[in-house]
Amino acid sequence: MTSLRSRLLISFTALLAAALLMFGVIGWLVAREAMANDVDDFLRAKATLLGRLVSVNRLRIEPWIEQELQVQERHFMLQVFGADGGFAGKSSNLAAAIPLSDEARRSEHPAGNAVIETLHVDGRAYRAATHPRRELWGDPVTLYAQALMPLDAVHARERRLLVWLVGCGMGVLAAGGVAAWHLSRQWLRSVSNLEEAARGLSRAELGLHRLFVPADDAELAALAASFNQLLDRLEGAHATQQRFTSDASHELRTPLTVLRGEIEVALRKPRSAEEYREVLVSNKEEIERLSRLTENMLALAHVDVGEAITQRELVNVSELCAGVVARLQPLAAERRIALQHEDGNEGPLSVNGDRLALERVMLNLIENALRYTPGGESVTVRVSKLPPWIEIEVIDTGGGIAAEHLPHLFERFYRVDKARSRAHGGSGLGLSIVKALVEAHGGGVRVRSEVGKGSVFTVRLPIA
Ligand code: ADP
Repeated sequence: MTSLRSRLLISFTALLAAALLMFGVIGWLVAREAMANDVDDFLRAKATLLGRLVSVNRLRIEPWIEQELQVQERHFMLQVFGADGGFAGKSSNLAAAIPLSDEARRSEHPAGNAVIETLHVDGRAYRAATHPRRELWGDPVTLYAQALMPLDAVHARERRLLVWLVGCGMGVLAAGGVAAWHLSRQWLRSVSNLEEAARGLSRAELGLHRLFVPADDAELAALAASFNQLLDRLEGAHATQQRFTSDASHELRTPLTVLRGEIEVALRKPRSAEEYREVLVSNKEEIERLSRLTENMLALAHVDVGEAITQRELVNVSELCAGVVARLQPLAAERRIALQHEDGNEGPLSVNGDRLALERVMLNLIENALRYTPGGESVTVRVSKLPPWIEIEVIDTGGGIAAEHLPHLFERFYRVDKARSRAHGGSGLGLSIVKALVEAHGGGVRVRSEVGKGSVFTVRLPIA
């Protein structure tokens, strides 16, 4: 696994090297071309000047001409040829005469224009400029003046340029690499600070620490901030879970304590069959409470792992509500409550969802209404169509709920009156299950209530 830093460094250096190489090659080609042109211009000028200085009657290169043209200083050679192209004289720095080429001798070259060519003699190459001298335009050539330069010298200059280019390129590359190394260390220092802080967090108490959000680095600040948000959520989830566990164990303990107490009292002395029966009936009630509680906890656990909806189908809500109302009529009658079902909609109102889950929602709401409403009052279940929603209201004319309880009503284990709820066998999980199931169907639930007047629980589900 390569580190981010070395990857950064390698990419940067590779990019820099590619850019340098490209510019170096282009620069070298351009410079070489310019140097070659320079040499040609130089030789052409020297040949032309030589043509003017040499006397037609004394076809020789006198020392003063060499001096005048700076032959020694500038490392080039001179030759003169007669009108017929025969060798006539050379500068002292040229060991042996080099014959005039056929190309240079061609008399149709216009006056003033030197012929530039590369000559190969005895394994050495020369660049040569040959100037054919004419006295007047159209006159025949009277002499050929030639300036030469060994190509070794030209190539040596090119090589020097190449060495310079490569050297400078290497230098820039090395400097760039070192700079990138330092810069990347500086940039990544914030990352490693963050990493260190995060590692420290996992050891520390979750609730106490948050990552420092650097002010001068937008990306890292965003990273730290979202990490902190994650910690907030984790902490929230952790707290909820702890509360749930302690509430749940408390809820489980109460019926167990009652059971143990009843059994211990019953066992203290021999009792009649009738007395034992009474104890068993009471035990059965507590056990039923326990199993309802565990069932509810299981339901919530399913919701928590995203299994609120186990199978989806088209559920006719009007029919489902009518069914639940019919099932609860005996309970309503027992409590002397008028349980009504109002549904003025034509055609079926359907939801795409889990039939059992939706049935549980309606059962919980209507059972609550029946439980917390005194006899003689009424409970109404009203189904209406409010596109894109199906709205189901469970309206009771019971005692209502005080405003301070309303925001917490859907929380797990929340009960307005613990003793009263327990007397009904409630554990405070019913409404939290309703909320979770309705939300899993893409809907919502809310409550309006007024003490002394009654409560309205409203469920909205999206129409299929
Ligand atoms: P429980 O198992 O205690 O009924 P719920 O979650 O179903 O738990 O309800 C939470 C609390 O909300 C109940 O303890 C009760 O005090 C209150 N409540 C629910 N429905 C009604 C209602 N229709 N009228 C008055 N109070 C209600």
